Amino acid sequence: MAPAIKTGAQHLESLRDSRTIFLDGVPVKDVTAHPAYRNAVATVAAMYDFQAADENAELMTFELPSGTHGSGRRVNRCWQLPTSYDELLQRRRALETWATLHGGFMGRSPDHVASAIGGQYMGLDLFEQHGPARAKAFSDYFHYARENDLFLTYVIINPQADRSKDWGDQPGKHLTASIVDEDSAGITVRGAKMLGTSSIMANEVFVANLQPLQPGEEDLAISFAVPMNQKGLKVLSRKSFEADSVSEFDSPLAYRFDENDALMYFDDVKVPWERVFVYRDTVMCRRQFHDTPGHTMQNYQAQIRLLVKVRFLVGIAKRLAETIGTIAIPTVRDRLGQMAAQASMVEGMVCGMEAAGSEWNGYFVPSRQLMYAAQVLTQELYPNMITAIRELAGGSLIMLPSSVRDFDNPELARIIKSTQLSPVMGSEERVKFLKLAWDTVGSEFASRHVQYEMFYAGAQFVTRGHSFRTYDWEGAGALVEAVLKRYALKDFLQAGKASA
Ligand SMILES: Cc1cc2nc3c(=O)[nH]c(=O)nc-3n(C[C@H](O)[C@H](O)[C@H](O)COP(=O)(O)OP(=O)(O)OC[C@H]3O[C@@H](n4cnc5c(N)ncnc54)[C@H](O)[C@@H]3O)c2cc1C
Repeated sequence: MAPAIKTGAQHLESLRDSRTIFLDGVPVKDVTAHPAYRNAVATVAAMYDFQAADENAELMTFELPSGTHGSGRRVNRCWQLPTSYDELLQRRRALETWATLHGGFMGRSPDHVASAIGGQYMGLDLFEQHGPARAKAFSDYFHYARENDLFLTYVIINPQADRSKDWGDQPGKHLTASIVDEDSAGITVRGAKMLGTSSIMANEVFVANLQPLQPGEEDLAISFAVPMNQKGLKVLSRKSFEADSVSEFDSPLAYRFDENDALMYFDDVKVPWERVFVYRDTVMCRRQFHDTPGHTMQNYQAQIRLLVKVRFLVGIAKRLAETIGTIAIPTVRDRLGQMAAQASMVEGMVCGMEAAGSEWNGYFVPSRQLMYAAQVLTQELYPNMITAIRELAGGSLIMLPSSVRDFDNPELARIIKSTQLSPVMGSEERVKFLKLAWDTVGSEFASRHVQYEMFYAGAQFVTRGHSFRTYDWEGAGALVEAVLKRYALKDFLQAGKASA
Protein backbone atom coordinates (compact mmCIF):
# COMPACT_ATOMS: atom_id res chain seq x y z
CA MET A 1 0.00 0.00 0.00
CA ALA A 2 1.25 3.50 -0.84
CA PRO A 3 2.41 5.61 2.14
CA ALA A 4 -0.12 8.20 3.32
CA ILE A 5 0.19 11.90 2.46
CA LYS A 6 2.97 13.64 4.37
CA THR A 7 1.75 15.32 7.56
CA GLY A 8 3.01 18.08 9.81
CA ALA A 9 3.94 15.63 12.56
CA GLN A 10 6.10 13.71 10.10
CA HIS A 11 7.83 16.88 9.02
CA LEU A 12 8.49 17.95 12.61
CA GLU A 13 9.96 14.54 13.37
CA SER A 14 12.22 14.73 10.32
CA LEU A 15 13.74 17.99 11.63
CA ARG A 16 14.96 16.40 14.86
CA ASP A 17 18.05 15.18 13.06
CA SER A 18 21.03 16.75 14.87
CA ARG A 19 21.57 19.38 12.17
CA THR A 20 24.18 22.04 13.02
CA ILE A 21 22.56 25.45 13.31
CA PHE A 22 24.20 28.34 15.11
CA LEU A 23 22.33 31.27 16.63
CA ASP A 24 23.85 33.92 18.89
CA GLY A 25 27.10 31.99 19.10
CA VAL A 26 25.71 28.66 20.24
CA PRO A 27 24.31 25.56 18.51
CA VAL A 28 20.55 25.08 18.43
CA LYS A 29 19.46 21.65 19.64
CA ASP A 30 15.96 21.30 18.25
CA VAL A 31 14.44 23.80 15.80
CA THR A 32 10.94 22.49 16.48
CA ALA A 33 11.17 23.66 20.10
CA HIS A 34 13.59 26.61 19.97
CA PRO A 35 11.96 30.04 20.60
CA ALA A 36 13.77 31.46 17.56
CA TYR A 37 12.20 29.03 15.08
CA ARG A 38 9.38 26.95 16.54
CA ASN A 39 6.45 28.99 15.24
CA ALA A 40 7.80 29.22 11.69
CA VAL A 41 8.43 25.49 11.81
CA ALA A 42 4.86 24.98 13.06
CA THR A 43 3.57 27.06 10.14
CA VAL A 44 5.23 24.68 7.70
CA ALA A 45 3.93 21.69 9.66
CA ALA A 46 0.44 23.19 9.34
CA MET A 47 0.94 23.42 5.57
CA TYR A 48 1.63 19.68 5.44
CA ASP A 49 -1.38 18.99 7.67
CA PHE A 50 -3.49 21.09 5.33
CA GLN A 51 -2.50 18.99 2.31
CA ALA A 52 -3.11 15.77 4.24
CA ALA A 53 -6.66 16.71 5.31
CA ASP A 54 -9.20 14.59 3.42
CA GLU A 55 -11.08 17.61 2.09
CA ASN A 56 -7.87 19.16 0.63
CA ALA A 57 -6.12 16.09 -0.70
CA GLU A 58 -7.36 16.40 -4.29
CA LEU A 59 -6.67 20.14 -4.48
CA MET A 60 -3.21 19.93 -2.90
CA THR A 61 -1.77 16.57 -3.91
CA PHE A 62 -1.55 14.18 -6.85
CA GLU A 63 -0.82 10.50 -7.17
CA LEU A 64 2.65 9.50 -8.27
CA PRO A 65 2.81 6.76 -10.83
CA SER A 66 3.65 3.45 -9.21
CA GLY A 67 6.59 1.59 -10.69
CA THR A 68 10.32 2.19 -10.92
CA HIS A 69 10.27 5.60 -9.33
CA GLY A 70 6.98 5.84 -7.50
CA SER A 71 4.88 4.00 -4.97
CA GLY A 72 1.57 5.50 -6.02
CA ARG A 73 1.79 7.84 -3.05
CA ARG A 74 0.04 11.21 -3.14
CA VAL A 75 2.47 14.14 -2.79
CA ASN A 76 2.12 17.89 -3.05
CA ARG A 77 1.26 19.20 -6.51
CA CYS A 78 4.44 21.31 -6.48
CA TRP A 79 6.12 18.09 -7.65
CA GLN A 80 3.71 17.70 -10.55
CA LEU A 81 5.24 18.15 -14.02
CA PRO A 82 2.37 19.62 -16.05
CA THR A 83 1.84 18.36 -19.56
CA SER A 84 -1.04 20.69 -20.47
CA TYR A 85 -2.42 24.14 -19.72
CA ASP A 86 -5.10 22.58 -17.52
CA GLU A 87 -2.52 20.71 -15.45
CA LEU A 88 -0.46 23.88 -15.09
CA LEU A 89 -3.54 25.66 -13.72
CA GLN A 90 -4.41 22.77 -11.45
CA ARG A 91 -0.88 22.89 -10.04
CA ARG A 92 -1.07 26.69 -9.63
CA ARG A 93 -4.30 26.46 -7.65
CA ALA A 94 -2.51 24.21 -5.15
CA LEU A 95 0.48 26.56 -4.86
CA GLU A 96 -1.75 29.61 -4.53
CA THR A 97 -3.85 27.96 -1.85
CA TRP A 98 -0.74 26.93 0.07
CA ALA A 99 0.55 30.54 -0.07
CA THR A 100 -2.67 31.84 1.48
CA LEU A 101 -1.76 29.90 4.65
CA HIS A 102 1.14 32.31 5.20
CA GLY A 103 -0.11 35.34 3.26
CA GLY A 104 2.79 34.90 0.83
CA PHE A 105 5.32 35.66 3.56
CA MET A 106 7.18 32.36 3.35
CA GLY A 107 9.28 33.03 0.27
CA ARG A 108 11.02 29.70 0.35
CA SER A 109 8.06 27.48 1.21
CA PRO A 110 8.56 23.86 0.11
CA ASP A 111 7.04 24.50 -3.33
CA HIS A 112 9.86 26.84 -4.38
CA VAL A 113 12.81 24.50 -4.76
CA ALA A 114 10.52 21.64 -5.78
CA SER A 115 9.52 23.86 -8.72
CA ALA A 116 13.17 24.57 -9.50
CA ILE A 117 14.32 20.98 -9.63
CA GLY A 118 11.10 19.84 -11.32
CA GLY A 119 11.85 22.34 -14.08
CA GLN A 120 15.44 21.13 -14.32
CA TYR A 121 14.23 17.55 -14.48
CA MET A 122 12.15 18.47 -17.55
CA GLY A 123 15.53 19.04 -19.22
CA LEU A 124 17.09 15.76 -18.13
CA ASP A 125 18.55 15.27 -21.61
CA LEU A 126 20.87 18.21 -20.88
CA PHE A 127 22.24 16.34 -17.85
CA GLU A 128 22.68 13.31 -20.15
CA GLN A 129 24.91 15.44 -22.37
CA HIS A 130 26.90 16.44 -19.29
CA GLY A 131 27.36 12.75 -18.45
CA PRO A 132 25.15 9.68 -17.91
CA ALA A 133 26.28 9.23 -14.28
CA ARG A 134 25.41 12.83 -13.42
CA ALA A 135 22.04 12.51 -15.20
CA LYS A 136 21.27 9.34 -13.26
CA ALA A 137 22.25 11.04 -10.00
CA PHE A 138 19.96 13.98 -10.75
CA SER A 139 17.06 11.83 -11.91
CA ASP A 140 17.32 9.54 -8.88
CA TYR A 141 17.50 12.54 -6.57
CA PHE A 142 14.46 14.21 -8.12
CA HIS A 143 12.42 11.03 -7.69
CA TYR A 144 13.70 10.48 -4.14
CA ALA A 145 12.81 14.05 -3.09
CA ARG A 146 9.41 13.82 -4.79
CA GLU A 147 8.53 10.40 -3.42
CA ASN A 148 9.29 11.63 0.10
CA ASP A 149 7.66 15.05 -0.44
CA LEU A 150 10.82 16.62 0.95
CA PHE A 151 11.20 20.24 1.90
CA LEU A 152 14.29 21.48 0.06
CA THR A 153 16.09 24.77 0.44
CA TYR A 154 18.72 25.93 -2.02
CA VAL A 155 21.88 27.98 -2.08
CA ILE A 156 22.69 28.98 -5.63
CA ILE A 157 24.43 32.30 -4.95
CA ASN A 158 28.02 32.88 -3.86
CA PRO A 159 28.99 34.99 -0.84
CA GLN A 160 29.08 38.61 -1.92
CA ALA A 161 32.64 39.51 -0.73
CA ASP A 162 34.47 41.81 -3.23
CA ARG A 163 32.24 42.45 -6.27
CA SER A 164 35.13 43.95 -8.24
CA LYS A 165 36.69 40.48 -8.53
CA ASP A 166 35.54 37.18 -10.10
CA TRP A 167 34.57 34.39 -7.70
CA GLY A 168 37.79 32.51 -8.33
CA ASP A 169 39.89 35.63 -7.59
CA GLN A 170 38.45 36.35 -4.14
CA PRO A 171 40.93 36.29 -1.27
CA GLY A 172 41.01 32.89 0.44
CA LYS A 173 40.93 29.89 -1.88
CA HIS A 174 37.67 28.49 -0.56
CA LEU A 175 35.50 31.50 0.17
CA THR A 176 32.87 30.02 -2.17
CA ALA A 177 31.86 26.39 -1.72
CA SER A 178 34.21 24.45 -3.97
CA ILE A 179 35.90 21.09 -4.36
CA VAL A 180 38.88 20.53 -2.03
CA ASP A 181 39.23 16.82 -2.57
CA GLU A 182 37.69 13.88 -4.36
CA ASP A 183 37.99 10.10 -4.34
CA SER A 184 36.07 7.06 -5.50
CA ALA A 185 33.25 7.82 -3.03
CA GLY A 186 32.61 11.43 -3.99
CA ILE A 187 33.78 15.03 -3.67
CA THR A 188 34.64 17.06 -0.56
CA VAL A 189 33.35 20.62 -0.52
CA ARG A 190 34.67 23.58 1.48
CA GLY A 191 33.40 27.16 1.62
CA ALA A 192 30.24 29.23 1.86
CA LYS A 193 27.05 29.90 -0.06
CA MET A 194 24.32 32.48 0.56
CA LEU A 195 21.52 32.58 1.67
CA GLY A 196 19.78 29.42 2.79
CA THR A 197 16.33 30.83 3.38
CA SER A 198 14.22 28.28 5.30
CA SER A 199 17.29 26.09 5.74
CA ILE A 200 16.60 25.75 9.45
CA MET A 201 13.41 23.83 8.65
CA ALA A 202 14.19 22.14 5.33
CA ASN A 203 15.13 18.50 4.94
CA GLU A 204 17.91 18.96 2.42
CA VAL A 205 19.88 21.67 0.65
CA PHE A 206 20.29 21.83 -3.11
CA VAL A 207 23.52 23.56 -4.11
CA ALA A 208 24.27 25.11 -7.50
CA ASN A 209 25.64 28.20 -9.27
CA LEU A 210 23.17 30.60 -10.80
CA GLN A 211 25.75 33.34 -11.23
CA PRO A 212 27.98 32.95 -14.31
CA LEU A 213 31.35 31.30 -13.75
CA GLN A 214 34.51 31.81 -15.80
CA PRO A 215 36.84 29.22 -17.31
CA GLY A 216 39.37 28.42 -14.57
CA GLU A 217 36.65 28.35 -11.88
CA GLU A 218 35.96 24.63 -12.35
CA ASP A 219 36.47 23.87 -8.63
CA LEU A 220 33.38 25.98 -7.96
CA ALA A 221 31.41 24.60 -10.89
CA ILE A 222 29.37 21.97 -9.07
CA SER A 223 25.81 21.16 -8.18
CA PHE A 224 24.75 18.65 -5.55
CA ALA A 225 22.33 18.02 -2.68
CA VAL A 226 22.90 16.87 0.89
CA PRO A 227 20.65 16.38 3.91
CA MET A 228 20.68 19.26 6.38
CA ASN A 229 22.38 17.04 8.97
CA GLN A 230 25.28 16.13 6.68
CA LYS A 231 28.52 16.09 8.65
CA GLY A 232 30.38 19.39 8.29
CA LEU A 233 27.35 21.42 7.10
CA LYS A 234 27.07 24.50 9.32
CA VAL A 235 24.13 26.89 9.19
CA LEU A 236 24.87 30.41 10.45
CA SER A 237 21.39 31.76 11.08
CA ARG A 238 20.67 35.47 10.89
CA LYS A 239 19.00 37.01 13.93
CA SER A 240 15.55 35.67 14.63
CA PHE A 241 12.64 38.11 14.41
CA GLU A 242 10.44 35.40 15.89
CA ALA A 243 12.59 35.34 19.04
CA ASP A 244 12.29 39.12 19.28
CA SER A 245 8.48 39.03 19.14
CA VAL A 246 6.98 39.88 22.52
CA SER A 247 3.74 38.20 21.48
CA GLU A 248 1.65 37.35 18.43
CA PHE A 249 -0.47 40.41 19.23
CA ASP A 250 2.62 42.63 18.92
CA SER A 251 4.34 41.04 15.91
CA PRO A 252 1.78 38.81 14.23
CA LEU A 253 3.82 38.10 11.10
CA ALA A 254 7.29 37.79 12.62
CA TYR A 255 5.82 35.55 15.30
CA ARG A 256 4.61 32.92 12.78
CA PHE A 257 6.28 33.45 9.43
CA ASP A 258 9.95 34.22 10.05
CA GLU A 259 11.36 31.61 7.69
CA ASN A 260 14.92 32.72 8.50
CA ASP A 261 17.92 33.12 6.19
CA ALA A 262 21.37 31.74 6.80
CA LEU A 263 24.87 31.61 5.49
CA MET A 264 25.65 27.98 4.74
CA TYR A 265 29.20 26.89 5.44
CA PHE A 266 30.48 23.61 4.01
CA ASP A 267 33.23 22.60 6.36
CA ASP A 268 34.72 19.78 4.30
CA VAL A 269 31.36 18.22 3.53
CA LYS A 270 31.59 14.87 1.80
CA VAL A 271 29.16 14.52 -1.10
CA PRO A 272 28.74 11.03 -2.58
CA TRP A 273 28.84 10.76 -6.38
CA GLU A 274 25.17 9.68 -6.35
CA ARG A 275 24.40 13.23 -5.16
CA VAL A 276 26.65 15.16 -7.58
CA PHE A 277 24.63 16.57 -10.49
CA VAL A 278 27.11 18.94 -12.10
CA TYR A 279 30.82 18.33 -11.92
CA ARG A 280 33.51 20.89 -12.79
CA ASP A 281 31.55 22.38 -15.70
CA THR A 282 31.14 26.15 -15.66
CA VAL A 283 28.79 26.17 -18.67
CA MET A 284 26.55 23.38 -17.36
CA CYS A 285 26.09 25.33 -14.11
CA ARG A 286 24.33 28.05 -16.07
CA ARG A 287 22.56 25.67 -18.43
CA GLN A 288 20.90 23.66 -15.65
CA PHE A 289 18.83 26.77 -14.88
CA HIS A 290 18.55 28.50 -18.23
CA ASP A 291 18.55 25.73 -20.84
CA THR A 292 15.92 23.79 -18.89
CA PRO A 293 12.64 25.28 -17.55
CA GLY A 294 14.27 25.29 -14.05
CA HIS A 295 14.65 29.06 -13.70
CA THR A 296 11.24 29.70 -15.23
CA MET A 297 9.46 27.24 -12.93
CA GLN A 298 11.11 28.48 -9.72
CA ASN A 299 10.30 32.10 -10.47
CA TYR A 300 6.80 31.32 -11.71
CA GLN A 301 6.22 29.79 -8.25
CA ALA A 302 7.62 32.99 -6.71
CA GLN A 303 5.13 35.11 -8.68
CA ILE A 304 2.22 32.88 -7.61
CA ARG A 305 3.27 33.40 -3.99
CA LEU A 306 3.68 37.12 -4.59
CA LEU A 307 0.20 37.52 -6.02
CA VAL A 308 -1.13 36.33 -2.65
CA LYS A 309 1.21 38.68 -0.79
CA VAL A 310 0.25 41.80 -2.77
CA ARG A 311 -3.40 40.89 -2.29
CA PHE A 312 -2.64 40.90 1.44
CA LEU A 313 -0.95 44.33 1.10
CA VAL A 314 -4.01 45.75 -0.60
CA GLY A 315 -6.17 44.33 2.20
CA ILE A 316 -3.96 46.09 4.75
CA ALA A 317 -4.11 49.37 2.81
CA LYS A 318 -7.91 49.48 2.61
CA ARG A 319 -8.43 48.54 6.24
CA LEU A 320 -5.89 51.17 7.24
CA ALA A 321 -7.84 53.89 5.47
CA GLU A 322 -11.04 52.68 7.13
CA THR A 323 -9.38 52.48 10.55
CA ILE A 324 -8.17 56.06 10.55
CA GLY A 325 -11.23 57.46 8.78
CA THR A 326 -9.63 58.52 5.50
CA ILE A 327 -11.44 56.07 3.23
CA ALA A 328 -13.84 58.68 1.84
CA ILE A 329 -11.11 61.15 0.84
CA PRO A 330 -10.88 61.17 -2.99
CA THR A 331 -7.06 61.14 -3.10
CA VAL A 332 -6.98 58.17 -0.70
CA ARG A 333 -9.47 56.26 -2.84
CA ASP A 334 -7.40 57.18 -5.86
CA ARG A 335 -4.30 55.67 -4.23
CA LEU A 336 -6.22 52.55 -3.21
CA GLY A 337 -7.49 52.20 -6.75
CA GLN A 338 -3.94 52.35 -8.03
CA MET A 339 -2.82 49.70 -5.52
CA ALA A 340 -5.73 47.46 -6.49
CA ALA A 341 -4.65 47.78 -10.13
CA GLN A 342 -1.08 46.90 -9.17
CA ALA A 343 -2.20 43.79 -7.29
CA SER A 344 -4.38 42.82 -10.24
CA MET A 345 -1.42 43.27 -12.55
CA VAL A 346 0.62 40.74 -10.57
CA GLU A 347 -2.27 38.30 -10.81
CA GLY A 348 -2.71 39.08 -14.50
CA MET A 349 0.96 38.42 -15.17
CA VAL A 350 0.63 34.94 -13.65
CA CYS A 351 -2.45 34.27 -15.80
CA GLY A 352 -0.51 35.61 -18.79
CA MET A 353 2.47 33.33 -18.13
CA GLU A 354 0.08 30.41 -18.15
CA ALA A 355 -1.98 31.49 -21.18
CA ALA A 356 1.19 32.17 -23.19
CA GLY A 357 2.80 28.95 -21.97
CA SER A 358 4.07 26.38 -24.41
CA GLU A 359 5.07 22.77 -24.85
CA TRP A 360 8.65 21.96 -23.87
CA ASN A 361 10.04 18.41 -24.11
CA GLY A 362 6.53 17.04 -23.64
CA TYR A 363 5.75 19.31 -20.67
CA PHE A 364 3.67 22.49 -20.60
CA VAL A 365 5.62 25.41 -19.13
CA PRO A 366 4.73 29.06 -18.47
CA SER A 367 6.03 31.85 -20.70
CA ARG A 368 9.60 32.72 -19.77
CA GLN A 369 9.36 36.18 -21.32
CA LEU A 370 6.32 37.13 -19.24
CA MET A 371 7.85 35.57 -16.11
CA TYR A 372 10.96 37.78 -16.45
CA ALA A 373 8.78 40.80 -17.17
CA ALA A 374 6.84 40.13 -13.96
CA GLN A 375 10.05 39.72 -12.01
CA VAL A 376 11.48 43.05 -13.19
CA LEU A 377 8.23 44.91 -12.53
CA THR A 378 7.47 43.36 -9.15
CA GLN A 379 10.89 43.90 -7.61
CA GLU A 380 10.24 47.60 -8.12
CA LEU A 381 6.56 47.33 -7.26
CA TYR A 382 6.90 45.75 -3.83
CA PRO A 383 8.86 48.59 -2.15
CA ASN A 384 6.53 51.08 -3.88
CA MET A 385 3.47 49.41 -2.42
CA ILE A 386 5.08 49.36 1.02
CA THR A 387 5.82 53.10 0.73
CA ALA A 388 2.22 53.72 -0.39
CA ILE A 389 0.86 52.02 2.73
CA ARG A 390 3.23 54.03 4.93
CA GLU A 391 1.95 57.20 3.24
CA LEU A 392 -1.64 56.21 3.96
CA ALA A 393 -0.79 55.51 7.61
CA GLY A 394 0.89 58.65 8.92
CA GLY A 395 1.88 58.28 12.56
CA SER A 396 -0.79 55.73 13.39
CA LEU A 397 1.72 52.90 13.03
CA ILE A 398 3.95 54.51 15.63
CA MET A 399 1.37 55.87 18.07
CA LEU A 400 0.95 52.41 19.56
CA PRO A 401 1.36 50.84 23.00
CA SER A 402 4.84 49.39 23.44
CA SER A 403 3.43 45.90 23.85
CA VAL A 404 0.41 43.90 25.05
CA ARG A 405 1.76 44.37 28.55
CA ASP A 406 0.53 47.98 28.52
CA PHE A 407 -3.02 46.59 28.54
CA ASP A 408 -2.21 44.81 31.81
CA ASN A 409 -1.63 48.14 33.54
CA PRO A 410 -5.13 49.53 34.38
CA GLU A 411 -3.94 53.13 34.19
CA LEU A 412 -2.44 52.63 30.73
CA ALA A 413 -5.37 50.50 29.59
CA ARG A 414 -7.67 53.41 30.40
CA ILE A 415 -5.55 55.88 28.44
CA ILE A 416 -5.26 53.47 25.50
CA LYS A 417 -9.03 53.11 25.46
CA SER A 418 -9.55 56.85 25.34
CA THR A 419 -6.82 57.64 22.79
CA GLN A 420 -6.78 54.77 20.27
CA LEU A 421 -9.88 55.93 18.46
CA SER A 422 -11.33 54.88 15.16
CA PRO A 423 -14.62 55.52 13.38
CA VAL A 424 -15.08 51.83 12.68
CA MET A 425 -13.59 49.85 15.57
CA GLY A 426 -12.77 49.87 19.26
CA SER A 427 -9.36 50.71 20.71
CA GLU A 428 -8.26 47.12 21.20
CA GLU A 429 -9.14 46.22 17.63
CA ARG A 430 -7.39 49.34 16.35
CA VAL A 431 -4.16 48.53 18.17
CA LYS A 432 -4.37 44.90 17.07
CA PHE A 433 -4.75 45.85 13.38
CA LEU A 434 -2.14 48.62 13.39
CA LYS A 435 0.42 46.28 14.92
CA LEU A 436 -0.23 43.90 12.03
CA ALA A 437 0.11 46.78 9.57
CA TRP A 438 3.44 47.79 11.15
CA ASP A 439 4.74 44.22 10.93
CA THR A 440 3.76 44.31 7.24
CA VAL A 441 5.46 47.57 6.30
CA GLY A 442 7.75 48.86 9.02
CA SER A 443 9.17 46.34 11.47
CA GLU A 444 12.51 44.63 11.04
CA PHE A 445 10.58 41.64 9.71
CA ALA A 446 8.87 43.91 7.16
CA SER A 447 12.17 45.47 6.18
CA ARG A 448 13.71 42.06 5.53
CA HIS A 449 10.75 41.36 3.24
CA VAL A 450 11.46 44.45 1.18
CA GLN A 451 15.05 43.24 0.81
CA TYR A 452 13.79 39.78 -0.05
CA GLU A 453 11.42 40.90 -2.79
CA MET A 454 14.08 43.22 -4.23
CA PHE A 455 16.81 40.59 -4.31
CA TYR A 456 15.59 37.00 -4.06
CA ALA A 457 15.75 36.62 -7.84
CA GLY A 458 18.92 38.67 -8.29
CA ALA A 459 19.70 42.39 -8.34
CA GLN A 460 17.87 44.54 -10.89
CA PHE A 461 20.71 44.54 -13.39
CA VAL A 462 20.42 40.74 -13.40
CA THR A 463 16.64 40.45 -13.81
CA ARG A 464 16.57 43.20 -16.44
CA GLY A 465 19.32 41.31 -18.23
CA HIS A 466 17.07 38.22 -18.34
CA SER A 467 14.23 40.36 -19.66
CA PHE A 468 16.51 41.82 -22.34
CA ARG A 469 17.70 38.33 -23.29
CA THR A 470 14.25 36.78 -23.62
CA TYR A 471 12.06 39.56 -25.01
CA ASP A 472 10.66 39.18 -28.51
CA TRP A 473 12.80 41.94 -30.02
CA GLU A 474 12.23 40.55 -33.49
CA GLY A 475 8.47 41.01 -33.16
CA ALA A 476 8.89 44.52 -31.78
CA GLY A 477 11.46 45.40 -34.42
CA ALA A 478 9.22 44.10 -37.20
CA LEU A 479 6.49 46.56 -36.22
CA VAL A 480 8.92 49.44 -36.44
CA GLU A 481 10.31 48.13 -39.71
CA ALA A 482 6.81 47.85 -41.21
CA VAL A 483 6.18 51.57 -40.65
CA LEU A 484 9.63 52.60 -41.90
CA LYS A 485 9.14 50.56 -45.06
CA ARG A 486 6.10 52.59 -46.06
CA TYR A 487 8.06 55.65 -47.13
CA ALA A 488 11.47 56.78 -48.31
CA LEU A 489 13.09 60.14 -48.81
CA LYS A 490 13.26 59.65 -52.58
CA ASP A 491 9.43 59.49 -52.76
CA PHE A 492 9.20 62.95 -51.32
CA LEU A 493 11.91 64.33 -53.54
CA GLN A 494 10.14 62.97 -56.65
CA ALA A 495 6.85 64.37 -55.42
CA GLY A 496 8.52 67.72 -54.99
CA LYS A 497 9.77 67.70 -58.59
CA ALA A 498 6.33 66.85 -59.92
CA SER A 499 4.68 69.78 -58.20
CA ALA A 500 7.46 72.24 -59.19
C1 LIG B 1 16.32 38.03 2.19
C2 LIG B 1 17.11 37.30 1.17
C3 LIG B 1 16.95 35.92 1.05
C4 LIG B 1 17.70 35.20 0.11
N1 LIG B 1 17.54 33.85 0.01
C5 LIG B 1 18.30 33.13 -0.84
C6 LIG B 1 18.19 31.71 -0.93
O1 LIG B 1 17.35 31.09 -0.28
N2 LIG B 1 19.04 31.04 -1.75
C7 LIG B 1 19.97 31.70 -2.50
O2 LIG B 1 20.71 31.04 -3.24
N3 LIG B 1 20.10 33.05 -2.45
C8 LIG B 1 19.30 33.76 -1.63
N4 LIG B 1 19.44 35.13 -1.56
C9 LIG B 1 20.53 35.75 -2.31
C10 LIG B 1 20.04 36.55 -3.50
O3 LIG B 1 19.79 35.69 -4.58
C11 LIG B 1 21.14 37.57 -3.81
O4 LIG B 1 21.12 38.53 -2.78
C12 LIG B 1 20.93 38.23 -5.16
O5 LIG B 1 21.17 37.32 -6.20
C13 LIG B 1 21.85 39.43 -5.34
O6 LIG B 1 23.19 39.06 -5.18
P1 LIG B 1 24.11 39.84 -4.15
O7 LIG B 1 23.40 39.85 -2.83
O8 LIG B 1 25.46 39.25 -4.24
O9 LIG B 1 24.08 41.32 -4.64
P2 LIG B 1 24.94 41.95 -5.82
O10 LIG B 1 24.79 41.15 -7.06
O11 LIG B 1 26.33 42.19 -5.34
O12 LIG B 1 24.22 43.30 -6.04
C14 LIG B 1 24.23 44.34 -5.05
C15 LIG B 1 24.16 45.66 -5.74
O13 LIG B 1 25.44 45.95 -6.30
C16 LIG B 1 25.30 46.59 -7.57
N5 LIG B 1 25.99 45.74 -8.57
C17 LIG B 1 26.76 44.64 -8.31
N6 LIG B 1 27.26 44.14 -9.44
C18 LIG B 1 26.80 44.89 -10.44
C19 LIG B 1 26.98 44.86 -11.86
N7 LIG B 1 27.73 43.97 -12.48
N8 LIG B 1 26.35 45.81 -12.61
C20 LIG B 1 25.58 46.75 -12.02
N9 LIG B 1 25.38 46.82 -10.67
C21 LIG B 1 25.99 45.92 -9.89
C22 LIG B 1 23.84 46.78 -7.79
O14 LIG B 1 23.45 48.04 -7.28
C23 LIG B 1 23.19 45.71 -6.91
O15 LIG B 1 21.87 46.05 -6.61
C24 LIG B 1 18.65 35.88 -0.68
C25 LIG B 1 18.81 37.27 -0.56
C26 LIG B 1 18.04 37.97 0.35
C27 LIG B 1 18.24 39.45 0.45
